[in-house]
Amino acid sequence: MTANAIRDAAHDDLAPIRESVRALCADFPGEYWRRLDRERAYPEEFVAALTKAGFLAALIPEEFGGSGLTMTAAAAIMEEIQACGCNGAACHAQMYTMGTLLRHGSVEQKKRYLPGIARGELRLQAFGVTEPTSGTDTLSLRTTAVRDGDTYIVNGQKIWTSRAEHSDLMLLLARTAPREQNASRTAGLTVFLVDMRKAKGHGLTIRPIRTMMNHATTEVFFENLRVPAEAVIGGEGEGFRYILSGMNAERILIAAECIGDAKWFIAKATAYAGERVVFGRPIGQNQGVQFPIARAYIGMRAAELMVREAAALYEAGRDCGAEANMAKHLAAEASWAAADMCVQTHGGFGFAEEFDIERKFRETRLYTVAPISTNLVLSYIAEHVLGLPRSY
Ligand SMILES: Cc1cc2nc3c(=O)[nH]c(=O)nc-3n(C[C@H](O)[C@H](O)[C@H](O)COP(=O)(O)OP(=O)(O)OC[C@H]3O[C@@H](n4cnc5c(N)ncnc54)[C@H](O)[C@@H]3O)c2cc1C
Repeated sequence: MTANAIRDAAHDDLAPIRESVRALCADFPGEYWRRLDRERAYPEEFVAALTKAGFLAALIPEEFGGSGLTMTAAAAIMEEIQACGCNGAACHAQMYTMGTLLRHGSVEQKKRYLPGIARGELRLQAFGVTEPTSGTDTLSLRTTAVRDGDTYIVNGQKIWTSRAEHSDLMLLLARTAPREQNASRTAGLTVFLVDMRKAKGHGLTIRPIRTMMNHATTEVFFENLRVPAEAVIGGEGEGFRYILSGMNAERILIAAECIGDAKWFIAKATAYAGERVVFGRPIGQNQGVQFPIARAYIGMRAAELMVREAAALYEAGRDCGAEANMAKHLAAEASWAAADMCVQTHGGFGFAEEFDIERKFRETRLYTVAPISTNLVLSYIAEHVLGLPRSY
């Protein structure tokens, strides 16, 4: 089976989009990603090419200058990027973070920002939610924004704020009312659209974190940063709900990326198992080598079905919380299983930089932890779908 046949096994009518993503990615081969990985550098040229082609504006409605595509089409774009061996993590947030602004922003905010985001002149790629002390328990976050006339004064710290150095705007979640003063446990958090260009050096400091893969992630410090009151998205104190409402899109798109990764690993392993001759025959003739590849393929195809169901529910405007979580879980497990299989199939060469496998292996490892970790998906399904008692 060729790499293209593995990629296209589940038919859809998105062949033209898939073809154009593949054509673009062909200009960014393994050597490009290896060099960036070594230098921990940002893929400026790749992101610029995706932006110019309009792919990152897929979900922005046409009235704001985007292409107004469906979630299924957006997922196909992200999947193809990964299936070509590229890394969409450098810019995937540009595609979905604007959803909070689109759904909850005022008419003025949308007119002011969305067309620029669609054109790629404004990068909205930074998402400041996670903090060092609160971790997954978002309601415990400590960054505060205190009203002072026409501004808010922000103090606190975020961690794992990816792409902050390559973003003009940040979606920031901060506490505007002390936890004990709120009627409900989820109230009191507010979303701000922070203009980082103005904020840097005036109360906003960014420090890169070096990680096991090239991910451009950072920690961000706020020290008496003044943010105009007009930067508030939606109602003050309602921010937790807005952030949650954006998470389904994020999960579906990242699940699609995992499907793309799994396809890349499976294609790579299949090709190698057919070529590599040991003991006088291709290693792929041995069932001990075939079966793990077949198992990875089955896992990927099953996860792909759930990603497609979640995307279809999302674009029909129906509740897809369970499906988006299950899609993310199954796809992240499938890509990680395929990565492990691919290393094993290649033996020693799986560890050699020039095969790209060890790089993709490191990159795909992230997705059972972020943007949401496996245990938290399992507890969502246990409590919200199966009705089991809350554990936290
Ligand atoms: C490379 C990278 C990029 C990221 N980018 C961003 C970003 O752009 N913006 C952003 O806001 N965040 C980002 N994150 C943060 C990411 O969403 C979190 O790391 C992730 O949600 C897990 O949270 P944590 O690291 O705080 O783990 P913790 O909450 O400290 O949890 C640690 C472990 O304990 C488990 N655990 C915790 N509580 C429970 C429980 N009650 N029951 C069972 N298990 C539990 C978790 O599943 C996890 O395995 C990024 C993280 C990484 C590593």
